[in-house]
Amino acid sequence: MNTSSALFLLRKLPSVDEVLRLPAVITFVTHEGRATLTDAVRTVLARLRSEIAEGRLDDAQVDLALAGLEGAVERQVARSLVYSLRPVINATGVILHTNLGRAPLSSSALDHVRESAQGYSNLEFDLDKGSRGRRDVHVDRLFQKLLNAPQETEPVSTIVVNNNAAAVFLALNTLAENGEAIVSRGELVEIGGSFRIPEVMAKSNAVLREVGTTNRTRINDYERAINDKTKALLRVHRSNFEITGFTEQPSLEELVELARRRNIPLLEDLGSGALFDLQSIGVTGEATVIDSLCSGVDLVMYSGDKLLGGPQAGMVSGRADLIERMRSNSLFRALRVDKLTYAALEATLLAYVKRDYESIPALLMMHRSKDEIARRAEAVVRQLTLPAFQITLIDGESVIGGGAAPSAVLPTKLLAIDCKNLSAHEIAVRLRTAEIPVIIRVEDNQVLIDLRTVFPEQDAILIKALIALGAPPSGA
Ligand SMILES: *Cc1c(COP(=O)(O)O)cnc(C)c1O
Repeated sequence: MNTSSALFLLRKLPSVDEVLRLPAVITFVTHEGRATLTDAVRTVLARLRSEIAEGRLDDAQVDLALAGLEGAVERQVARSLVYSLRPVINATGVILHTNLGRAPLSSSALDHVRESAQGYSNLEFDLDKGSRGRRDVHVDRLFQKLLNAPQETEPVSTIVVNNNAAAVFLALNTLAENGEAIVSRGELVEIGGSFRIPEVMAKSNAVLREVGTTNRTRINDYERAINDKTKALLRVHRSNFEITGFTEQPSLEELVELARRRNIPLLEDLGSGALFDLQSIGVTGEATVIDSLCSGVDLVMYSGDKLLGGPQAGMVSGRADLIERMRSNSLFRALRVDKLTYAALEATLLAYVKRDYESIPALLMMHRSKDEIARRAEAVVRQLTLPAFQITLIDGESVIGGGAAPSAVLPTKLLAIDCKNLSAHEIAVRLRTAEIPVIIRVEDNQVLIDLRTVFPEQDAILIKALIALGAPPSGA
């Protein structure tokens, strides 16, 4: 399309005010309000304008669109009044998918959120004493049950903040403000594009003292860096990368020994922070929160919505005297969590205390066997009759995600979909824009679906979305 005919078509479009004066639109205004309608009209006209500019509409199509303007405005109003945050089906096989909300909550967590939030609660009220209480007692007692080694005399304390980034920030600001914290160069991680250890440290007013090289750091490097400004030794889990080959890092035992001898707190940013035995899902060499505390780490920091399988939150667990200092830091007030988070966390932790691991969706998904996934995948295939599509079952891997062990994968069975008429990318778009969006994986121009992260009760919705792929596109 040339510029002059585009200009000709653009001149056919009415102004916002003209559309607002159409009889049907006037009726909508009385129902939905002028602001909503003005927005909707602007959006519809802007869409038409860009379609014309891109040469996607000819004269007849513009006339057709103008004839249907009132309907388009009505649909746009309806669209603008639905939630933007919506449930999706995660068929990627990435269990703790950061873009898809990480850990799904258990039904008892949801129930507890609802019952604690729909009315009043004893969030900060001590029912025994009838006076003001502390909000963290509700979960601290459960963390004590879960984290205390039987022989330990001093109870482990836990403080909860908004996320693990906030936990690291609060710990460093409380213990190392105006001082130095020593970190290995091999652990200066960036996670999810925005959590960078050096930047978090700078904001916490702790000076980062880097030691060693990217691939080799020895205990002597830490020892030599200690001076009278040293306030902490920090160990960081390399959540999303591995350094292989010629590498050396001091063992946790060596770090603990050094920290004790020089009387400096040892902090560990674990990231994922599992509260269950990872070997039960075949992941080895990953320390749990208890392992870390038992080794003698003074404070461990970890997320609530990674391997723990609860709500977004960040925990610092460890020495009671250090936790108490964090509690009295005025920043704690800005970083603390609300009653919804406490309720979800309390219910999730209670499931651990009761050893009811199956009730935590992320844990259940990790424990799902390849055979069970294969049986469901076969049942899905049996219900699909899509002539233009070729659907096969292939071996593959699910990913734990959320910065668990970087190489931690679980064997799975994948539905691999090829289509004569649609590219993998087009299939991905069609599934993503379905009424209930389905998010899938594309690898080597092939659509892959992993049922490990699909709730069994969603299989029917997934099947419907796949069958709809066989139908022609519905248009707007
Ligand atoms: C994920 C992660 C963080 C950030 O945790 P959030 O809960 O997302 O703030 C920090 N450190 C490590 C090592 C992590 O894996």
